[in-house]
Parts: sequence; structure tokens; C-alpha cells
Amino acid sequence: MVVAAILEDVEKLRVVDYPEPQVESNGILLKTELCGVCGTDMHLYGGNMVIPFPVIPGHEFVGTIEEIGDEAGDMEVKGQPLAEGDRITVVPGTNRFCGDCYFCRFMPHKPTLCTNRKVLGVNMTSAEPPHLLGGWAEKIYVDAKHFWVYKVPDEVPPEVALLTEPMAVSSRAFERGYAPGLPTFGEGFGVGGTVAVQGAGAIGLLTVATAELAGAGRIISIDMVDERLEMAERLGADQIIDMRIFKTPEERVREVLRLTGGLGADVVVECVGIPAAVPEGIDMTRRGGKYVEVGHYTDPGPVPINPHTICFKDMDILGSWTYPPTQFGTVLELMRQSMDRLPLDELVTKRYGVAEAQRAMDDLKARKGIKLAIHG
Ligand SMILES: [Zn+2]
Ligand SMILES: [Zn+2]
Repeated sequence: MVVAAILEDVEKLRVVDYPEPQVESNGILLKTELCGVCGTDMHLYGGNMVIPFPVIPGHEFVGTIEEIGDEAGDMEVKGQPLAEGDRITVVPGTNRFCGDCYFCRFMPHKPTLCTNRKVLGVNMTSAEPPHLLGGWAEKIYVDAKHFWVYKVPDEVPPEVALLTEPMAVSSRAFERGYAPGLPTFGEGFGVGGTVAVQGAGAIGLLTVATAELAGAGRIISIDMVDERLEMAERLGADQIIDMRIFKTPEERVREVLRLTGGLGADVVVECVGIPAAVPEGIDMTRRGGKYVEVGHYTDPGPVPINPHTICFKDMDILGSWTYPPTQFGTVLELMRQSMDRLPLDELVTKRYGVAEAQRAMDDLKARKGIKLAIHG
């Protein structure tokens, strides 16, 4: 039997036993090492997304292979052979884009826009065998033909590898801010560029880390929680703006201008998810710069902005909706290179057993810690 936490309905989390699944030739049965608890799980729990109950939450996972089907050993996306005991992580969104919707046909370079996407731990029900289609369980079943499986580099421990998915979100958002052509044109991010990150939750902190690893010059992190601001500094922030000291948007904008020679940041990334952060962030962006919106994964409502500012600044405002499956490769390589440089392993501040999933959810809602994780 395999212990799993399931969402039976809105705000109904229950711990159940599922039978060991039959591993098909394309299948991999994973022993869960760690699975992140994230804002998306809170939205599933709260009924903000329509899903086919029951669902095992958890889409940010890493584990070791317990059993592998005959053909799955050759299915690692970069061609590395897979065997029992290997540590892997999996892109939770399926690689089987429908091919029929407008976006699959006309925007194949933006696979996350496919209107028929299936995501492990989000909208795949656990009602039928193999049941184990989410990370809040002792074991996870992965069909390697339908999902991108990445072998985790030896240098990267599980407490870092579990950040692959959220760092895919943040690094893709950050990459939206890159200059479109030659960096000398001064649009968007280039090596040595200044970056301001609004919010220092997991996504904000991983954006700071990405900017640091990408060769940013000055990085500014804005938040109001000591634990997060301290971590931002350790992950590469050169300056922090404490919202308890800089209380108003005007004060914070003035401080960003002061720190950037009166210009504003080349790239500003919104990782708060509160509408009021957006006009403030636009004001922090340099003329000709880029503002990236990644924090509003769900819809908390509108906010007034001044269109003149956007026009006057000749700036770009860009949305970032999840990431293409290739982003996991980018992130694992960044992680491999950063192990001696950045304390990414300290982002997981608390761990829970599968049977304690409710407590993890309650702590997430109470915004305790930085990254919470379920262990298998
Ligand atoms: Zn997530
Ligand atoms: Zn499609």
C-alpha cells in the first residue's frame, strides 16, 4: 500500500492508501524524496481552479526510481540512461500538447498556452489506476512517454532539486526580461544590468538567484519579512527595500531610483501577486526597460495604472505563464553550477510527512516559512 494525501473536494484533504501500481513498459515508479507545497496547491484546495476530484496535489517533486518499465530506461530527455536508484525530477505538464488548438497550431514555441494541458498534481485525477499522479504521496507514477523526465545531476541534492519547478517559473519569467537583440541596444536585461524583484517568497527569491547567476549587476529585493529579506541577500540581492521602513509606494519607487542613479531598474519582476504592486513596479522600471508580471497566477482583481507612464517610458510589459518543458534543463544546469555559490538548500524551511499534509496546507495559508515540503 502507498500512503497519499488526496483532495476529495474543495477544502477536503484526506489521507488514503492506494495499491502499488502495475508499472507499464513506459512507466516509472518513483519513491518520493521531497515535494514542494506551493500557492497553486492552495488554490486547488480553496476551489479557485476547476479540477477532476480526487487529485493528489504536488507538482514540484524529486525522487528516486524504485521500479522502471522495459522501455522507460531510454526516455530521459537528454538521453541519459535511467535505472533503479537514479534521482529524477519530472516536468509536471504533459509533453502531449493537443496539436489541435489555435496555440498548438500557430504558436508552437509557447507550449504552455495549449488549452488542453494535463498537469501532474493539478488536473489529473487519482480515481483510476495507477492512482499516484501527484507528489503528496510516498510514491509517484510517471508515464515517461507523456512527461519529460530529467535525471538530476549528482551535485544537486534533493532539497535543491525540488526547487526545479518553481525555479523554472522564475527563470522563465526572468528570461522574458532579456534584451531582444544586441544587448548594446540597452533594452531589457544584459550582463551587469540592474534588476528589481518585488516580493521575496519562493518565486521572488528564485528570481533573485536567477538574476545573480545570469550575471546581473545590482539586484534589489523588496519585501517585509526578515527571514525572506535575509535569504534574498544570501542569494545575491545587493540591496533590500524593507517595506516596514519604506512604507508607501512613493517611498519605495524613490529608493529604487536612488539606487539606480535616478533611472529605475532595467528589469523589474513582479512576484507578489497583489494588484497594487503593479503600478508601483511600472514606476520602478527604467525608460526603455522591461516589466515582467509572473505573480498573478490567479485573479485577485484589477488595479488602475497610468497608460501615459507606459507610453512615456517606451517600455515593455510582459506576462510569463509557467514555462516550456526545456526550462527544467536550464534550471538543473544553473543549480549544478551554483552549488558552491548560493545556499539554495536553505529555502526549504519545514518538512512534513504525507499524513501531515493538512498541517502543511494550514502553515502555507498562514505564510509560515519560505518553502514547505512534503517528504515521502
Ligand atoms: Zn508550484
Ligand atoms: Zn493545444
